Amino acid sequence: MGKVSKGVKCTVTGCANDAVRSISSEEVSKAGLKVSSSGRAYLCKNHYREMKKKLKKDREVERWRLMR
Ligand SMILES: [Zn+2]
Repeated sequence: MGKVSKGVKCTVTGCANDAVRSISSEEVSKAGLKVSSSGRAYLCKNHYREMKKKLKKDREVERWRLMR
C-alpha cells in the first residue's frame, strides 16, 4: 500500500476519480471490484472505502464459518 502521485486515476472499471491509494490488484479483486490493470491497482477514496468494507465483511464471514 502506498501513496499515489497526482493525476493518477482510479483503476476500477468505469470510475474516473483521482486515486488516493495504490494496492495490489489481487486484494482489489478479492473485494469484488473490477480493475483494468494487473499488478498495481489504484483506488479513489470511495472505492478504497468500499474495498475495506468488503474485505472486512469477508473476514467476518470466515470467522463465523470457523466457529461452527
Ligand atoms: Zn474509483
